[in-house]
Amino acid sequence: MIETITNVLGESKTVTRRYEDGSFDCPFCHNAVITPGTECVNPWCEANRYMPIPHLLARREKEEAERKDKEQRERNHQWAMERRQQEIETENEIRREAIDRGKREGLCLDCMFKSPYRITFVKHRKLCPKKVA
Ligand SMILES: [Zn+2]
Ligand SMILES: [Zn+2]
Repeated sequence: MIETITNVLGESKTVTRRYEDGSFDCPFCHNAVITPGTECVNPWCEANRYMPIPHLLARREKEEAERKDKEQRERNHQWAMERRQQEIETENEIRREAIDRGKREGLCLDCMFKSPYRITFVKHRKLCPKKVA
């Protein structure tokens, strides 16, 4: 019974999936190795004895580069999310401070956030035009 499969680089993996007739799945590519065959014949598999080593090394390098690229994108995304969260917290803090100041100084809280871009500090002599309208 075949216990392990070795690839062209001499690295071995244990066979984990077997069938009743003695066939098993190649642990490298998951293709079935049909009994009485004992080695993987998938032309793309690194355990195929005809797989050229430089080809396999180039493929691994490419996969590694893609993995790093993906990681980098995920990190950037994470970073952008954290930054946005921080911005929201900062905005909330600024709003809280503005409201505190407004209450202390008797400013109009209805007019304070009428513009989405800046905080308006205004004190009406009469009623607030927003409230009248
Ligand atoms: Zn294989
Ligand atoms: Zn007002």
